[in-house]
Amino acid sequence: MGTKIRRVSVFGTGVLGAQIAYQVAYSGFEVVAYDIDDAALAAARERFDRLSHTYRAEVHGADDVRTDAALRWLRLTTDLEEAARDADLIIEAIPEVLDLKRSTFARLNELAPASAIFATNSSTLLPSAISDATGRPDRFLALHFANRVWQFNTAEVMGTPETAPAVVEELVQFAAAIGMVPIELHKEKAGYVLNSLLVPLLNSALALAAGGYADVEDVDRTWRIATGAPMGPFQMYDVIGLTTPYNILAYGSEGDRRLAAWVKENYIDKGKLGVATGEGFYTYA
Ligand code: NAD
Repeated sequence: MGTKIRRVSVFGTGVLGAQIAYQVAYSGFEVVAYDIDDAALAAARERFDRLSHTYRAEVHGADDVRTDAALRWLRLTTDLEEAARDADLIIEAIPEVLDLKRSTFARLNELAPASAIFATNSSTLLPSAISDATGRPDRFLALHFANRVWQFNTAEVMGTPETAPAVVEELVQFAAAIGMVPIELHKEKAGYVLNSLLVPLLNSALALAAGGYADVEDVDRTWRIATGAPMGPFQMYDVIGLTTPYNILAYGSEGDRRLAAWVKENYIDKGKLGVATGEGFYTYA
C-alpha cells in the first residue's frame, strides 16, 4: 500500500468525519470512529448506511461486497481510550472550535501511542494554532478533505514548520492509499490550495451581481465559456449551499458584509439556500 499506517481512528462522525471514516474503511483499513454519545453514534450508523448506497450508485466498481466489507472494517465507539490506544493515525473532524480541538488533542496525546500521527481536517484553523497542544508537534499536521470525498477526492496535506518531513511524506502516501489525490502544501496557508482559489472567485462573482454590474447567468456563462469550466461560480454556490458562505461574509470586512446583506435579502430570507432546498441562484427540479 506504500504506507505503514494500518489502524486509523477518526474523531467526530458528522458530515466530514463519517465520509472520511467510510472512505478509509472502504480502502481496506481498520477504522475506529469516535463520537461523544450514543445519539451521535446512531446518526453515524445512518450516515454509513447512506454512504453505502451512495457509493454503489456513484463509485465505479462499488458493489454490495465492497460496501459490506467497508462496514465491517468500521467500529464505532464513545470510549476515548479504546479509540486512541492502538491508532497509527488519528484524524480529527470535530466542530470548528479551536479550544475544543486543542483540548481533544491534548487528551489524545495521553492515550495514543507515541508513534501515532495526529491530523486535523480543519478548514479554517491553521495547524500551528493547535500544534503545541498535541504534545507531538513533529507528528501533527493538517489532512484536509473536501465534502463528498468519494467524488471530490483531493486531500490537502499541510504541515507546520515543526512537522517532520517524513510525517508529511507518510500522509501523502496514506492519502494515495485511500484513493485520494494528495495535494502537498510546502508552507502553511489559510484556505489551503482549493479555498485560496475558490473563495476569491466566489466573492468576485457576488460583487459583480450584487453591485448590479452583470446578471448571475451572465457571470456564470462568461466563466464557463472563457475557461471551459463545467460550472459558473453561482452554480457552485448552489451546490455548496448559501448558508456557510453567507455566515463567513457576515463576519468579514465592510465590503463582505454588504455582499452578505444582498445574499440575505434576495436569497436566504426567501428560503433559497441552494440545490438542497430546490432553489438558490437557480431553480432545480
Ligand atoms: P459536523 O458538525 O457535521 O460534525 C462534528 C461531529 O463532531 C459531530 O458528530 C459531533 O457530535 C462530534 N463532536 C463534537 N464534539 C466532539 C468531541 N469533543 N470529540 C469527538 N467528536 C465530537 O462538522 P463537519 O462539517 O463534519 O466538520 C468537522 C470538521 O471538518 C471541521 O473542522 C470542518 O472545518 C472540517 N471540514 C468540513 C467540511 C464540510 O464541508 N462540512 C469540509 C472540509 C473540512
